[in-house]
Amino acid sequence: MSAKASLYQNVTRQFDRAADLMGLDGEVRKILARPMNEVTVNFPAKMDDGRIEMFTGYRVQHNNVLGPFKGGLRYHPMVDIDEVRALATWMTWKSAIANIPMGGAKGGIQIDPAKYSQGELERITRRFTFALGSNIGPDYDIPAPDVNTNAQTMAWILDTYWSMMSPLERQRSLHVVTGKPVDLGGSVGRDKATGQGVIYVIEQWARDRGFDLSQATYTVQGYGNVGSWTARLMKPHGARLVAAEDHTGAIANPAGIDPDALLAYARAHRGGIAGYPQAEAVDHKVFLSTPADIFVPAALENQLTAETTPWLNVRLVAEGANGPTDPDGDRILAERGIDLLPDILCNSGGVIVSYFEWLQNKRSEFWELDEVDAKLHRIITAGYGRVAEAVKEYKVDWRTAGYIVAMARLEKVYKQRGIFP
Ligand code: NAD
Repeated sequence: MSAKASLYQNVTRQFDRAADLMGLDGEVRKILARPMNEVTVNFPAKMDDGRIEMFTGYRVQHNNVLGPFKGGLRYHPMVDIDEVRALATWMTWKSAIANIPMGGAKGGIQIDPAKYSQGELERITRRFTFALGSNIGPDYDIPAPDVNTNAQTMAWILDTYWSMMSPLERQRSLHVVTGKPVDLGGSVGRDKATGQGVIYVIEQWARDRGFDLSQATYTVQGYGNVGSWTARLMKPHGARLVAAEDHTGAIANPAGIDPDALLAYARAHRGGIAGYPQAEAVDHKVFLSTPADIFVPAALENQLTAETTPWLNVRLVAEGANGPTDPDGDRILAERGIDLLPDILCNSGGVIVSYFEWLQNKRSEFWELDEVDAKLHRIITAGYGRVAEAVKEYKVDWRTAGYIVAMARLEKVYKQRGIFP
């Protein structure tokens, strides 16, 4: 699978549709239509053999009118300014729907991390942090993990950021990144947060539809943080994982694949699920055509397109990934009567628990897992309720309704504050 269209064009089409339907204020529309800041850095890092290699990194800060810029860092060969711009914009909508005091940002490095040693990745991350300098900061712009980055990446960023500041300020800046290791100020429950949020939203959908999750079948694309957590957290419901796909290939077993055993296998095989012995290898088209109740895309963007959406054989698409469905995909889902829980609602568990981590760090607190889960549940289901209301009021699809909820909140704040000077 590969990304095809410009991702930011997708954002623009989604934005225009919602802005027209809700009658968004023309001035606010102009402001929200483009990111506030775009930072590109070219920086060197030393390789294991002593050579210097140059890298390009990005940080796009879409909007901070509701709170500090917030969003993940991605390491992937497809990272470019267009992709980061789109991902940053979605972060603004996500925080606004969740009603948390955060803005939207995203960043990344155009790199295939599989080609570098752990030591090289550490030096690349540290030099990237150094190059970003004061473009990030604990009350200004707070990165987090995304594709191919994790708690270890955040620990390197924190350590590098700290080493650039006076000792007096270090403890006050623990919240410069979220998704840190728990021993280093991370929040319990952050690792699983995005998957947990996907599950809470699916539960709400099932309740609304009178759908019994214990009899459900599901498929998952991507078996990293979001995909594997979502798959594993569906297991207690009694639902059956019948197919999965990642960058190494796709597998299927109508009798069910154990999500925990699959994760253990992937961990033992450099993160890949191909070759898992209790399932059959299938190709991409067969994977996407697998009959199931729920499909959770949790890998990359532009997966459900004019070509691929007709292959689906499911009743719900719950977007764990950002931007997995393009505007043609949205149209075909609607035509075929397949429900959609859009990314800006469905995968917001990550930013919500990142917000909790940020709060705990600011207050030197440590919350228990049941507290984190209960608060996440409350916030994400309230967001679900707001989007469901907008679906009814405007008679639109769930993605457009999510945009309307987000933009109405931003519009209100812009009108209250006015535009300086
Ligand atoms: P990850 O790096 O942990 O996992 C990515 C997964 O995608 C891997 O299993 C990889 O094999 C798979 N993948 C990559 N290329 C693929 C391909 N060509 N075909 C099929 N699978 C492929 O990343 P993640 O953090 O789980 O992020 C996945 C998605 O979820 C991204 O869209 C990300 O922006 C989104 N997201 C992540 C978080 C978070 O908290 N990590 C929060 C919200 C949204």
